[in-house]
Order: sequence, then structure tokens, then C-alpha cells
Amino acid sequence: MKDKRKQYFKEYYQKNRKKKLRYGVQYRQKNRKRCLETCMRYHDRNKSIIVQVRQIGCYFCSELDIDILEFAHIDLKDVSISYNYGFERLIKEIEKCEVMCANCHIKFDLGKL
Ligand SMILES: [Zn+2]
Repeated sequence: MKDKRKQYFKEYYQKNRKKKLRYGVQYRQKNRKRCLETCMRYHDRNKSIIVQVRQIGCYFCSELDIDILEFAHIDLKDVSISYNYGFERLIKEIEKCEVMCANCHIKFDLGKL
């Protein structure tokens, strides 16, 4: 049942993609202030979650400076986490990552760790 619904919405989106995109642009132009406020609310909430998670420190060297700590995707190395993600997507992405300092992240991506 859920799959049928999902399939229906997927097909609907594919058929009406241009219309929906145009509507999205018009909506954002008309409601610019509201959209910006929502965006900033998401940004602030996500930033506080990201800062809290980073406080666990680097996975390899125990660096604790949150300004140089990053999220490293273990499987998909080229994907980054955005401050504008919805809550569920943010948590899902964080679960796929380890916190690493910038140096360890580069070494990890090069396969040196
Ligand atoms: Zn490190």
C-alpha cells in the first residue's frame, strides 16, 4: 500500500515536474520573507545539532576543536551535510558519518587511515 502511494507520487512528480518547479519559484518570490525565516530556523536548529555531535571529537586523533571537525561519509565520500536539511534527513546523514578533524578526513579519503 505504502509502495503504491510512493509510486503514484513519483510518477505524478515526473509528469508535473516543470509545473511544480515553476510553482515553487513563484511561491518563494511571493513569500520571500517567510521562506527566509523558515530557512534560518532550519539553519539554526541544524547548526546546534551539528555542533553538539562534533563535540565528541575526531574519530582518529581525538581533536576537540569543533571549528576544524567535519563529518566524513564512510561510504559516499563526496556527499556533504547541509544546514538546510530537514530534521530526519539530517539525522540520517549524520548516522552515515564519523566525526573527523580536517587532517584525518583528508588522510581517510586518501586511504592513509
Ligand atoms: Zn583527527
